[in-house]
Formats: sequence, structure tokens, C-alpha cells
Amino acid sequence: MNKFNYFMPTKVVYGSGVVRGAGADLALGRRALIVTGKSSARLSGALDDVLAVLPGDHVIFDQVENNPSVETVIRGGMMAKDEGCDYVIAIGGGSPLDAAKVMAVLAVNEVHPLDLYQVGWKQQALPIVAIPTTAGTGSEVTQYAVLTIEEAETKKGLRGADLFPQVAYVDPKYTESLPLDVTIDTAVDALSHLVESYLAKRASVASEMVALQGIALWGTTIPSLRQGVFDLHARDALLLSSTLGGIAIAHTGTALVHALGYSLTYYDGLPHGRANAVCMEAYLEFTRKVAPEKVETVLELLELPSVEAFGELMGELFADYKGSLQLSSDRIAHYADKAMLTANITNSLGEPKVAELTKILKTSIL
Ligand code: NAP
Ligand code: FE
Repeated sequence: MNKFNYFMPTKVVYGSGVVRGAGADLALGRRALIVTGKSSARLSGALDDVLAVLPGDHVIFDQVENNPSVETVIRGGMMAKDEGCDYVIAIGGGSPLDAAKVMAVLAVNEVHPLDLYQVGWKQQALPIVAIPTTAGTGSEVTQYAVLTIEEAETKKGLRGADLFPQVAYVDPKYTESLPLDVTIDTAVDALSHLVESYLAKRASVASEMVALQGIALWGTTIPSLRQGVFDLHARDALLLSSTLGGIAIAHTGTALVHALGYSLTYYDGLPHGRANAVCMEAYLEFTRKVAPEKVETVLELLELPSVEAFGELMGELFADYKGSLQLSSDRIAHYADKAMLTANITNSLGEPKVAELTKILKTSIL
């Protein structure tokens, strides 16, 4: 008998021109905290669209860095408080979207961000509008926010039902200004969400439906990814598969690829999607031993003949970085130990142990 919960409280408004089309409905309150990175909200045209139709007041926090820090969310949370903001509009990649979610919590709770991980928070976060400008994280439809935690030398995800944005406006045209490297990094993040979700222990018939649709759609973009040329049709497919990936991991969480990737970002500075790409082939090889049919389904949907062909695709997409990642045995052991501490490992089929994670890391594509 099937048994599952399906919970997706975010209203998704998807398509060209949806922000301007929303008009005054874009506002969820009287005064918005608009949260962005340094340039992407402007470059993508999303901020202009928001400001063209947004009624009421707003203040802008435009200082979110890649892989946001605790200090940044404290500053944004204080700004929301001092300025009397009653909702948040997040524009950008996963970094501004995730940072905005934590700011929405800190705006109404007297708590240090590190304590959010231990004790949680009492007051419901301010309502959030999310407008993605990358096609990767799916953060516009998840209850997660990932921060860099220096004390723990890693990145850590917070989760809470009130971190689901109330509305996501998802428009492929905002991703047209993405440089090629960010397009590829983020595309592989989206693929890793879809694949890890489909292969997760917590996968259900409902999450699998979403993940499979997303994997098939992502597969249609492989020629564009290989050529490095993207028309709006390809941008549309990448962004929709990214949002589907978000919906999928909102139900299942991610698995060992993300657990290992966090160290590759924290210590080696790899962008999030590229960090995931490093281990994907070895992860599929490992999972094939316990779930051969499921891995076969992934490959079929991507129209790739084998796990090796999947690895070749990753190698081709990241050819410019070949030889750039040097990991000593000590480093690999450290990353494997750190990954073992995460819930992602128990969510991975085959329940890998340190030895298997070590082997997976050794099979690096970079
Ligand atoms: P990002 O760190 O948000 O952005 C990467 C770079 O792309 C930045 O330099 C950014 O510029 C630029 N950029 C973004 N949109 C652009 C556009 N349309 N045109 C030109 N440049 C653009 O990258 P991301 O991969 O989307 O997010 C990564 C973060 O999300 C990580 O911290 C990761 O752990 C997290 N994540 C969260 C979830 C979740 O469910 N919440 C899931 C997966 C990953 P600016 O600096 O100007 O913004
Ligand atoms: Fe991710």
C-alpha cells in the first residue's frame, strides 16, 4: 500500500512576465524588505519589474554573498526590524533566497541564528515572496535555508514550514543573463536534487512523480548544456526542472551527494552545483548496486546509455576545471567523516559507511 504526505504550500506563478502581471498582488504587506545579491537582481531585470508594480514602501538589502553567512542574515534581520518591514521579497539565486528566509525569521524572533538550529524559533517568519534568477536550487519552493557556519566548518540547512515562500514568481527570462559557468553549475544542482530525491530513502510515489518529470525535462537540455548555447526554450526547461527539483526535495531531502558537496564548497571553494557534480557518477554507481532499476530509469530518461556516459557528460560540462581539485587522503577522510554526521547519509539508499564515502570522493571528475 502506498503511504505518503504531500505538502506544497507555495503558490507557484510560472511564466513570462509574471511579476509585472501580478501588479499590486505582489505585495504581501505594507513595507517590504527586498533581499538581493550584489548585482543579479538588477542584471536579470527582476528588480526593475518588482519596483515597477510594487505598491507600498520597501527597503533594499543588496549585500547577500554566495553561500550566505550568519553575519549577513543578522544584518538583514536587523534591517527588517529597524525599518518595520512586514514581509520579504527575495530576488536572486539560492544565496539571496535562503538568506531572505532566515532574515524573515530573525525579523520577528530575538534569537541568534546558530540557536535556530538547536532550539528553533517561536514566532512565525514574515511572509516571503521568492523570485529566482538561477535555475538550480529550487529554494523558491522549499522549506530549507542553507547557511555557512564557520564554527562547524561547513554549510548547514535550516528547515521550517514557515520558510516555504508564500508565493514564487518564476520567470525564465530572468535566467537569460546568467553566465555560462553559473548556468552549468546551477543546472547540475537542479539535476542532483531530482536524482537524489528519486533515489532517496524518503521518496514516495508523489515525490517520484515530480522527480521523474523533472529528470526527463532536464534531459532535453543536454544538447544546449553541451554546446553552451541556450535559447529561451532551454532556459524554460532548465528553470522548470529546477523548480520541480525543489518540490521533490521539499518532500524527500537530499542525499550523500549534497553531504559531500558541502565540504567541497566550504574547504575548496567550489560553487554548490559543481561540488555536487564531483560525486554524481560514483553515487550512481554505488546506488546501482542496491537499486539497479531506479538508476536505469534515471539514465533512460536522460537518454544516456550507462553510468559511465553520465560521468563523461559531467566531465564534458566541467572540462575547464579538470585538474583543479586536489584532495589528499587526509582531506578525503575528513570530508567523509563530516558527511557521516548528516541526515543525508541515512537518507541515501544502501546506507553508505565511511569507506564507501571515501571511495566515492576518490572518483572525482575534477
Ligand atoms: P548563488 O550563490 O545565489 O549565485 C551565484 C552567482 O550567480 C552570484 O554571483 C550571483 O550574483 C549570480 N547570479 C544569479 N543570478 C544571476 C543572473 N540572472 N544573471 C547573472 N548573474 C546571476 O547561486 P545558486 O547556485 O543559485 O545558490 C547557491 C546557494 O543555494 C548555496 O548556498 C546552496 O547551498 C543553496 N541551496 C539551497 C537550497 C534550498 O532548498 N534552499 C537547495 C540547493 C542549494 P549576485 O551575487 O549578484 O547575486
Ligand atoms: Fe543543492
